[in-house]
Amino acid sequence: MNILFMGPPGAGKGTQAERIVDEFQIPHISTGDALRLAVKLGTELGLKAKTFMDQGHLVPDDLMIGIVRERLQQDDCNKGFLLDGFPRTLSQAEALDEILASMGKQIDHVINLQVDRDRLLARLTGRRICRSCGSTYHVLFNPPHVEGVCDKCGGELYQRSDDNEESVGTRLDEYVTKTAPLLDYYRAKGILRQVDGEQEIDEVTNEIHSLLRGQA
Ligand code: ADP
Ligand code: ADP
Ligand code: ZN
Repeated sequence: MNILFMGPPGAGKGTQAERIVDEFQIPHISTGDALRLAVKLGTELGLKAKTFMDQGHLVPDDLMIGIVRERLQQDDCNKGFLLDGFPRTLSQAEALDEILASMGKQIDHVINLQVDRDRLLARLTGRRICRSCGSTYHVLFNPPHVEGVCDKCGGELYQRSDDNEESVGTRLDEYVTKTAPLLDYYRAKGILRQVDGEQEIDEVTNEIHSLLRGQA
């Protein structure tokens, strides 16, 4: 099962991905997480990507395609994978098709989470992440039991430096101009599935489950 999650920043891709990979026992490949780790470790990739990320701009395609090619070639992807946050441009989508074709693979399902722009702003500015395990929370919509502390591992919750209003505005604009056109690319292939991402978190999970299990 090779799955791709699409949707604007804040649509709930990471939240749903955590749940789906648990259920299907496949690796979660988040290019945003990979970049944040590179920044934290101060690698060459991290240094190149940081300015783009802070400003809310997309990181150049050649860097992104390199990361994903390397990751997809690892053995754990043979049982399937869930790509979250890639591709975000047409060049990335075309490169992904080539990478997969060279391995005799293809994308089976593209799940698009639909959420209105107004709601995205509230979701992104209230988002909190666990420093230890990466779990995602929201101060209002999905709060932890104890403020600032991860339910799953007790880790400290923090706010991403790019989850501020200015950067969020740029990210949403980048999505509209560069990423949204990809939906047509996947629609034409007949593998695009739409999910209403404004429902409760559990309801969205159930709907994705049904689609992946072929019951919807
Ligand atoms: P993405 O990975 O698409 O950027 P996230 O999964 O990080 O999105 O979700 C963005 C924020 O919205 C997080 O704070 C998350 O807790 C919250 N969130 C996710 N799904 C929902 C939902 N269905 N309803 C309300 N809030 C949600
Ligand atoms: P979001 O929560 O907004 O969906 P991500 O965590 O997926 O964000 O990505 C954070 C940032 O990392 C993006 O704003 C962008 O700068 C960079 N990034 C992640 N994936 C890609 C990609 N496929 N192409 C270009 N830039 C990317
Ligand atoms: Zn945690």
